[in-house]
Amino acid sequence: MNRTRVGLGFDLHRLAEGRPCILGGIELPHPTGPVGHSDGDAVLHAVADAVLGAAGLDDLGTLFPDTDPDGEGADSRQLLGACWERVVAEGWTLGNLDVVIATEGPRIAPHRAAMRASIASLLGIDETCVNVKGKSLEGLGALAGGTGVAVQAIVLLERAS
Ligand code: MG
Repeated sequence: MNRTRVGLGFDLHRLAEGRPCILGGIELPHPTGPVGHSDGDAVLHAVADAVLGAAGLDDLGTLFPDTDPDGEGADSRQLLGACWERVVAEGWTLGNLDVVIATEGPRIAPHRAAMRASIASLLGIDETCVNVKGKSLEGLGALAGGTGVAVQAIVLLERAS
């Protein structure tokens, strides 16, 4: 019998001029990008925390603390890869992953397909197991006007027994 577990990930980064707009492992054409110790890829950070959480492992910030000078400018594709390796080593496979990107910075819709492909490739899974969508903030709250990007990711993992 297959055992299933869900995991939830959340991340939030400020958007600032002069930063590359890297989200979901791809660079979007936009004048602002996420600020962070790493490349600031809030999408991959939320995905990493979702898969780690489902597997009951330490979270991204514990595994790769932002106080570690070696992590300066880190490529989040490598961080996610390292997290996913830990999850796979525990025998888990991915059922499906769903991601919501809330921002009034870059438009997400034109890049959904590329983000899906990017995330699926990083996890070594079929694109049909990954969904990505953008939401505007209706001009409300702290993220209004493109000041930041918030991401939620939920994942289902499966394992034999
Ligand atoms: Mg982050």
